[in-house]
Amino acid sequence: MPLNYRQMMAKEQTTAKGKGDPPQGAKMRTPKKRLPRSRLTKQEIQALFARLSAINPEPQGELEYINPYTLLVAVVLSAQATDVGVNKATRALFAIADTPEKMVALGEDKVRDHIKTIGLYRNKAKNVIALSQTLMEEFGSRVPEDREVLETLPGVGRKTANVVLNIAFGHETIAVDTHIFRVSNRTGLAPGKDVLQVELMLERIVPDDFKRHAHHWLILHGRYICKARKPECWRCPITEICRFPEKTPEPGTAPAAKAKTRSNKAA
Ligand code: SF4
Repeated sequence: MPLNYRQMMAKEQTTAKGKGDPPQGAKMRTPKKRLPRSRLTKQEIQALFARLSAINPEPQGELEYINPYTLLVAVVLSAQATDVGVNKATRALFAIADTPEKMVALGEDKVRDHIKTIGLYRNKAKNVIALSQTLMEEFGSRVPEDREVLETLPGVGRKTANVVLNIAFGHETIAVDTHIFRVSNRTGLAPGKDVLQVELMLERIVPDDFKRHAHHWLILHGRYICKARKPECWRCPITEICRFPEKTPEPGTAPAAKAKTRSNKAA
């Protein structure tokens, strides 16, 4: 039986639409991607930072620098290296080259000699010279106070840019390094599968009063207490807030507990 006009139009629309398309006139709903959320309550987040801040009200970074330029260089050198190792190398370097002009005049070979105790030093020496040249040619030898612009410099990624903005210019940025990533995930403060996810969540959830120093508190906590291999939970100031299920007991207490269990069995 031949189709009438309405039936033909309906057939045409059905064929043109993909399977599963909403009926015409229905509201298009964009499927919501669930963002990970903090596992801590607002009050717990407030308490966590209040405790870290009470212990160290004015936390400082551990990299040594003289001005924003030397800070930028030090942070570039610190990738996959310890702050202590970087400081050892930069003390002598910054004494003779604390501006882009002086660094370029010193030259790549001598910069390389100064930093050869640091990992990836060949590549880093190249980057230091290249970024110094760019600063001279495009920014009047000043360090730009803008994340996107900083990220265009050789050897500078988002983390480096965030550190420089926070320390040199007082921005409320949080540079998620290995320590912050670990602490954020273990505690449940800002769980995330990558550093950007953790950074964006921390930006959302850290209370305003603590934003300026959150970066340092979390790094120092990760470096000295919530260590990668064995977190020192028994002396951790935020242990009651932290959601980590395998908290480390005070040294000496665990074997004693095991011995008791054995003796109980024996009895
Ligand atoms: S309780 Fe342990 S795992 Fe949790 S933050 Fe403290 S040191 Fe890290």
